[in-house]
Amino acid sequence: MLEFEPVVDDPRVEILNLVSGREALKHLERIARTCYKSEDRISEDSYARFLRGILDRGHEAMIEHIWVTAYFYTDRGVTHELVRHRLAAYAQSSTRYCNYSQDKFGNSIHVVKPLYFDPEEALQPVTFPLYRERGKVENVPLMANAFDVWFLSAVYANWAYMTLTRVFGRQPQEARSVLPQCTAAEIYVTANLREWRHIFKLRALGTTGAPHPDMRRVMLPTLKAMHKEFPVIFDDIYEECLARGLFAA
Ligand SMILES: Cc1cc2nc3c(=O)[nH]c(=O)nc-3n(C[C@H](O)[C@H](O)[C@H](O)COP(=O)(O)OP(=O)(O)OC[C@H]3O[C@@H](n4cnc5c(N)ncnc54)[C@H](O)[C@@H]3O)c2cc1C
Repeated sequence: MLEFEPVVDDPRVEILNLVSGREALKHLERIARTCYKSEDRISEDSYARFLRGILDRGHEAMIEHIWVTAYFYTDRGVTHELVRHRLAAYAQSSTRYCNYSQDKFGNSIHVVKPLYFDPEEALQPVTFPLYRERGKVENVPLMANAFDVWFLSAVYANWAYMTLTRVFGRQPQEARSVLPQCTAAEIYVTANLREWRHIFKLRALGTTGAPHPDMRRVMLPTLKAMHKEFPVIFDDIYEECLARGLFAA
C-alpha cells in the first residue's frame, strides 16, 4: 500500500422499516378507507387492490402515513443531491466532527470508487505538476488512465488532509476543505412513501433527466428493497425500471 493511499470502498444501502411491509400496507388501507367509509370491506388481503386503486386515481396523499428510513454509504456528491429533497429527515456523518486522522477511521480518508473509471482502461501520456516548492513546478510525464488520475487525486487529498491535521494541527472543519466529492459519507434518509415514490422517479427512473450514475447505483437497490417490502406502492416505478433494463445495467 502506498503512503497516504486512501481507503477505497464500494457503496451500499439498507432499508430500515420499523413494521413489516404488509402491516404498513394494511395500516394505510385502514386509514384511507375512512375517506370512502368502506372499512367494512377490509379483509386479510384487500389492501393490495384497494391501494392500487388509490394510486391509479392519484390519491397519493394517503401513502404519506407511512415513513421509511434508508441508509446509504455513498459519496458526498450523491448525499449532496439527496439532501435537496425537502420532504425528508436526514442524519449525515459530519466532516466537521469526524477526524479521519484518528485510529477509528484507519488514519485515512475513505473514498467511494466511482462507477465509470475503469482501472483496466488503456494508459495514455499525461503531465503531472509536481510542486517542488512554492513557485517551482516540475512537470513530470506519466502514463495513466482516468482511474489513475482519480486515484492520484484522492492520494493527494489524503496527504493534504493528514498534513493539515497532524503536522499543522488544523481542526477537521478546516482540513475538510481539501476533501474530494468522492469522500465516503453515511446518511440516513427518512421519508414517507409518497416522497420515496418521487425520489425514485427522479433518482432511479430519471423522469426529469438522467440521474448521476453513482446516484442511480444506490437508488436502484433501494427501490428493489422497498418494492419487495411494499410491492403495490412501487410496482409501476419498479416495472418501468425493469422494462428499461436499468437493473441489468
Ligand atoms: C436530473 C436532475 C438534475 C438536477 N440539476 C440541478 C441543478 O443543476 N441545480 C440545482 O440547483 N438543482 C438541481 N437538481 C435538484 C432539483 O432542483 C431539486 O432540488 C430536487 O429535485 C429536489 O426537489 P423536488 O422539487 O424534486 O422535490 P422535493 O424537495 O423532494 O419535494 C417533493 C415535492 O413536494 C413539493 N414541494 C416541496 N417543496 C415545495 C415548495 N416549497 N413549494 C411547492 N411545492 C413543494 C413538490 O411537488 C416537490 O416535487 C436536479 C435534480 C435532478 C433530478
